[in-house]
Amino acid sequence: MDENEQDRIFESSPSNYLESLRPQKLINFIGQNHLKRNIELIIQATRARNDPLDHLLFYGPPGLGKTTLARIISNELNVNVRTTSGPAIERTGDLASILTNLEDFDILFIDEIHRLSKVVEETLYPAMEDYAIDIVIGKGPSAQTLRLDLPKFTLIGATTRLGLLSAPMRDRFGAIYRIDFYQEEELSAIIHRSAQVIEVDIDDAAAKIIAQRSRGTPRIANRLLKRVRDYAQIHNRGRINNRIVEQACELLKIDQFGLNDIDFQYLHMLVTKYQGGPVGLDTIAAAIAEDKGSIEDVIEPFLLQQGLIKKTPRGRIATDFAIDLLTQQKENRLF
Ligand code: ADP
Repeated sequence: MDENEQDRIFESSPSNYLESLRPQKLINFIGQNHLKRNIELIIQATRARNDPLDHLLFYGPPGLGKTTLARIISNELNVNVRTTSGPAIERTGDLASILTNLEDFDILFIDEIHRLSKVVEETLYPAMEDYAIDIVIGKGPSAQTLRLDLPKFTLIGATTRLGLLSAPMRDRFGAIYRIDFYQEEELSAIIHRSAQVIEVDIDDAAAKIIAQRSRGTPRIANRLLKRVRDYAQIHNRGRINNRIVEQACELLKIDQFGLNDIDFQYLHMLVTKYQGGPVGLDTIAAAIAEDKGSIEDVIEPFLLQQGLIKKTPRGRIATDFAIDLLTQQKENRLF
């Protein structure tokens, strides 16, 4: 594989600023205690057996720590991890070159694994089960199938949409773990840890407000912390307190529950234009000019979790809570 091919398929090595916020050890991974206990057990057992780790699948909304966990597992087991994503593996040849370049016990992390093409997915089956792949050489009647043995690797898959993963693919994972939204206290702890890493001064009350507005998601918490830090730098000599957080959030149009202007557009459209629904996904996407994937992956999981919308077979419905919230928001002229 030449360098350009490598760049296309693999994510670059973790070096950027955001990466420095990623915990490297399981002990520094905050929250998800049940999941952590399971992973700890699997890691210990795998170490003791000197076997490759079973193939694992993580699912849940974006930004909750799936990639971080894959990296942590590789650190804990002291093995290499190669990171790629479903759409980056376009051909079976890409997959073959990835797999044949791994070493025994290496981890291959495939993000958005539900977006693998059918042929690539089918090539993965024997790779996961028997550490071998079948490659077809030539075309037509003279085509031959060649079986290539592979190193004993571990596949860690991540997906935001478990339902889009085929049953045969799901069945080939030794364990499937769901990652949930984080509690406020857990997010506060993550914010304090990140503040230490980026060397910014934040008090407990301020961390709590950022946590409340982070939609249960560490990635959003880290992002918001950094935007508030910018604001504090200009307006408060770098110190973050609750007043600074409130002001920065007003500027960023993030309300007390973490809802932003796109969420409000969504709810507004549902309540005022369509009398609360039901409205189909296609109509929503057209009405707020967002693509269906990000509506389903990013916007809706949080609105559902907050009890602002319901999904029904006939479409999305706004709840009474959403209607109350919009009335309040209109009174406060927040957006
Ligand atoms: P995903 O792969 O699920 O989209 P990531 O693993 O990329 O999410 O996590 C997003 C960011 O959130 C990471 O940069 C990491 O710093 C942070 N993060 C996620 N989970 C945790 C956690 N449990 N503790 C501390 N930081 C976390």
